[in-house]
Amino acid sequence: MSDHPEDTLYPVPARLLDKAQCPEPYITSVEQYQKMHRQSIENPEEFFGKLATELLSWSKPFHTVRHGGLDHGDIAWFLEGQLNASYNCVDRHAISTPNKVAMIYEADEPNQSENITYGELLRKVSQLAGALRARGIRKGDTVAIYMPMIPEAVVALLACARIGALHSVVFAGFSAEALRDRIRDANSRLVLTSDQGKRGGKTIETKKIVDEALMSCPSVETVIVCQRTGHSEVPMTAGRDVWWGDEVSRQPNYLAPEAMHSEDPLFLLYTSGSTGQPKGVMHTTAGYLLGAAATVKYVFDYHPGDIFACMADVGWITGHTYIVYGPLALGATTVLFESIPTYPTPSRYWELIAKHKVTQFYTAPTAIRALRRLGDSWLEGHDLSSLRVLGTVGEPINPEAWHWYNDKVGKGRCAIVDTYWQTETGSHIVTPLPGAIATKAGSATFPFFGIDLAILDPVTGKELSGNDVTGVLAVKKAWPSIARTIFGDHKRFMETYLRPYPGYYFTGDGATRDKDGYIWIRGRVDDVINVSGHRLSTAEIESALIMHPTVAEAAVIGANDDVTGQCIHAFVCLKPGISSHSNDLSKELVLQVRKVIGPFAAPKKIYLVEDLPKTRSGKLMRRILRKLVAGEKDSLGDISTLADPSVVAALIVKVESS
Ligand code: ATP
Ligand code: MG
Repeated sequence: MSDHPEDTLYPVPARLLDKAQCPEPYITSVEQYQKMHRQSIENPEEFFGKLATELLSWSKPFHTVRHGGLDHGDIAWFLEGQLNASYNCVDRHAISTPNKVAMIYEADEPNQSENITYGELLRKVSQLAGALRARGIRKGDTVAIYMPMIPEAVVALLACARIGALHSVVFAGFSAEALRDRIRDANSRLVLTSDQGKRGGKTIETKKIVDEALMSCPSVETVIVCQRTGHSEVPMTAGRDVWWGDEVSRQPNYLAPEAMHSEDPLFLLYTSGSTGQPKGVMHTTAGYLLGAAATVKYVFDYHPGDIFACMADVGWITGHTYIVYGPLALGATTVLFESIPTYPTPSRYWELIAKHKVTQFYTAPTAIRALRRLGDSWLEGHDLSSLRVLGTVGEPINPEAWHWYNDKVGKGRCAIVDTYWQTETGSHIVTPLPGAIATKAGSATFPFFGIDLAILDPVTGKELSGNDVTGVLAVKKAWPSIARTIFGDHKRFMETYLRPYPGYYFTGDGATRDKDGYIWIRGRVDDVINVSGHRLSTAEIESALIMHPTVAEAAVIGANDDVTGQCIHAFVCLKPGISSHSNDLSKELVLQVRKVIGPFAAPKKIYLVEDLPKTRSGKLMRRILRKLVAGEKDSLGDISTLADPSVVAALIVKVESS
């Protein structure tokens, strides 16, 4: 393997293009991709007009494909059209194929999976939608959803969409405080939750957390409580809390969907909070749904009969778009996974794939690194031959982890799609296409349809043309699934995304377009380190560290340095069973970085640690490490989005003692 992942191209696996083995991909050459991409940029009206008619069902057709844009923050698509997202995701499939499985629920305990057909899904969605109406929820109201990964959570999203209420899903790993802030910010009138949750064999007191949050949420009138375990004595507040089962059993099995305009809001979702205060990102109906459906079709090369398994939580945008809206809009079978990759053993993913004959599998680099760390033996004896497309999302994937995913999980016969996108983009914006794009390990490759990508000079804001350039990643034109606003704060929307570089959507991430035109996401702009005038990306240095056989994970930050401006500090987690007491190991790791990147990138300090601070969606929170190294442990800012706050105490000890 080359030390420079930019140099090696991995062609589309021959198997994917062999009709005897796989359905023919929709796009089979880079030329075909380029032609379609050009059309989507030069004539978006025609391109997306056609796609929207092909992939979505409209109760009233649109005449204007596109209006407004990035200059004024007045983005609108498919203006006169009307459609309902739940009709598109449920009814039309329940009408044509009522017995097709819409959802496979893989419960926390491996022997408890359950299938739900499109026919059943329509009845469940109708009943809950009726119950929400009966409790006074109307089009335009906001409903908070704080639920474990059970089928009712998916039903909850679709029931809101059916009556035109905005759902605001809060990941059920969040604390009462974080939940309270999100309920208050969105002004939610009703909360959908469950008695308890199950995750990795542990019981979570979901309803108790809701009760605590609601002590200071005057907007909430009703709490509908679903029974996940039925084991606990859940305290119910009279006049406010009601049981899900009682509420839905009173409602008829069919309720007509509300007619929604294309630009009517579909949902709010708070970003994961890696960089600071979470924002209530708002998406609207038609454009979002089209982005979701189009990317499941082209990026995952979805074909009828495929079993689509996205391992994210519905509490994140990845769950919204790739567990619920995207696959269901296409009438797919989607897998809902309640557990964690290591329960009961680190074979859980592989068992799930073999058991349900999964064709598309989608997870995060953090999960891949964790499983790689535990060794290859857990993969043995599981039939993974059904897989065609393996996706990753959430962070840059280190080439080491990419290779493990490609070789050990995909056995070199699957497409790897490293999909770059954000809560705000609604669906993938930079990504390979399985049958068309030769990949590079760690590159998100090329822009998706409708994405007119630009790399800007961070200081002057000038677009950097040609190849072999590094700067900030931006987009020149609005695309259908871009967020329309931040709930209740359009000014902040403008200032965060559209004003920093006027005329562009600013992603906040740095990127390189390499000599062959491939895009490499370098991580957040705030995370770029400047050593003696060299601009280094954290992702690059972390990748160099993780290439060392003892390293499982690494997080790199910049610290102030009198001589060089900034210097590099690296936090490193070792694989199990490797002694962390050796001085030599630190030296070896420094050498590793010097060798792979260059002497200027050598870390000044290496901390060997047990654990790294991560958000609840598994992303590294480098800003906490920056604060600790700067000696500002008392001003860490909002750490409510941290998965395990106890990690911080251990890190403080480590930093202070070295
Ligand atoms: P906040 O905006 O509150 O700080 P967040 O940005 O982590 O939170 P998300 O919208 O869930 O919230 O994540 C989007 C970010 O995740 C991107 O801006 C990028 O930094 C990172 N990301 C997502 N996918 C990839 C990928 N394939 N490669 C590199 N980075 C990725
Ligand atoms: Mg973000």
